[in-house]
Amino acid sequence: MTGLYVHIPFCLKKCKYCDFNSFAFSAADKGRYLNALFSEMEQYRGKKCDTVFIGGGTPTALNTAEMKMLLQKIKEIFILSKDCEFTVEANPKTVDRQKLEVVRQNGVNRLSLGVQSFNDSELLLLGRLHTAKEAEETVALAKDCGFTNISIDLMSAIPGQTADSFKKSLDTAFSQNPAHISCYSLILEEGTPLFREFHEGLLTLPDEDEERRIYELACSQMQLHGYEQYEISNFAKPGFESRHNIKYWKCEEYIGVGLSAHSYLNGVRFSNTDCFSDYLDRKYRSGENELLSEKDKMSEFMFLGLRMTKGVSAQDFYKKFGVDIKKVYGKPLSKFIKMGMIVEENGFLRLSHEAISVSNQIMCEFII
Ligand code: SF4
Repeated sequence: MTGLYVHIPFCLKKCKYCDFNSFAFSAADKGRYLNALFSEMEQYRGKKCDTVFIGGGTPTALNTAEMKMLLQKIKEIFILSKDCEFTVEANPKTVDRQKLEVVRQNGVNRLSLGVQSFNDSELLLLGRLHTAKEAEETVALAKDCGFTNISIDLMSAIPGQTADSFKKSLDTAFSQNPAHISCYSLILEEGTPLFREFHEGLLTLPDEDEERRIYELACSQMQLHGYEQYEISNFAKPGFESRHNIKYWKCEEYIGVGLSAHSYLNGVRFSNTDCFSDYLDRKYRSGENELLSEKDKMSEFMFLGLRMTKGVSAQDFYKKFGVDIKKVYGKPLSKFIKMGMIVEENGFLRLSHEAISVSNQIMCEFII
């Protein structure tokens, strides 16, 4: 079974750090986009999926009727497994009781809330539209509407953030008892207002030591509160790991529909156009299909697999490629095992905790 990703590119207003393909919209934009999206989905009619992830943008920027139509179309076109993990990303400013109830009643069983911080001055600096209190109220409302699998996104390395202010955000998150917490570092992307402000000297980022303190704090506090780190930036209560994201890290197949969505099917990677008007004209694809070579597939298997704290399974590598992992990666493996950066345990090879802060450098050595 494949995973299904559905992209909704609309946002009420652009956050100051965001370079995703998302933008403010008119009612007409939404209508035309949904029609084009439904036509694209038709190409996959009858495909069996065991995870669905509606992301963006802000999927909940759709109004309640549009959201209902989208969910019903997905269920009508695709064959969803009985235990399908069905996630919708939501922004606290774009949900109310009625929308959340409709989302829940139409099969969505996981809500991923973009909170980023429970500190109002950090939210303001990031250009988020909601307050910390509104984010807390949204979690409570989602629970009241029947969601038991709620994920909260938090951000580290926000300008001016300290280990103390981060801990306050974390404590507020823990007090909501979500099933899952993602914690990504802010990356200043060129062309964003925050990037400009930083280069004009208007902002200071936490220095490397403070960033490390924040990361260590996140790991230790999550463990203390019963969240297991299962990927570099993701923590979950047992049984609540994101099955959809694990598909990406395990190089399993997925269909991506919508503006600038990516797909990986039958060993071929392809992506959709990021031009809104082309998409509306049903010119869905951009560029060539990329048929991955065996070496590409091995590189991705390692590069993505090492993101998971469990690591990569030597047996799975053999099953997939018919060759022993040490035959292909003997050199970097023995080097990093000697350095204590990679640990070999129960048939898995994983990064050690110390290696996580330099994971990018390590993973680069597994690209053939
Ligand atoms: S809500 Fe998300 S996708 Fe939209 S602008 Fe903000 S960060 Fe970007």
